[in-house]
Amino acid sequence: MGLLSPILRNGQDNTLIWWCPGCDGPHRINHGSGPGPRWGWNGSVESPTFTPSVLITWTEPANLHALDLLRRDLADAERRRNAGEQHVKVPQAAKVCHSFVVDGQMQMLGDCTHALAGQTVPIPPWPTQRDS
Ligand SMILES: [Zn+2]
Repeated sequence: MGLLSPILRNGQDNTLIWWCPGCDGPHRINHGSGPGPRWGWNGSVESPTFTPSVLITWTEPANLHALDLLRRDLADAERRRNAGEQHVKVPQAAKVCHSFVVDGQMQMLGDCTHALAGQTVPIPPWPTQRDS
């Protein structure tokens, strides 16, 4: 993975990768030609614009920090699953990050599940401690 600018990296197959401050993780799109969904890119590495919007959805184990009772249930479910009880389901939370990337800014849409929903924030420099 190469560094195109402090905020933008590239990878194989016309991949562009940037750090999302809402998710505290990397997001990527593909541009140009090739298989799969492709985004338009204005060609700027300092102030990139991607079209259309970037929608990322995933699930992760439910965040139960404030709910000790449920956290205990989660730990118990994980322990039972690790013990081979395949039918045990760990509670999952649906996560959404939906943004327009315009001129190096992420316009977070209202359906984001992270704390920056509804805000417009600059793409931050790639965290130096995360080099991969
Ligand atoms: Zn995100």
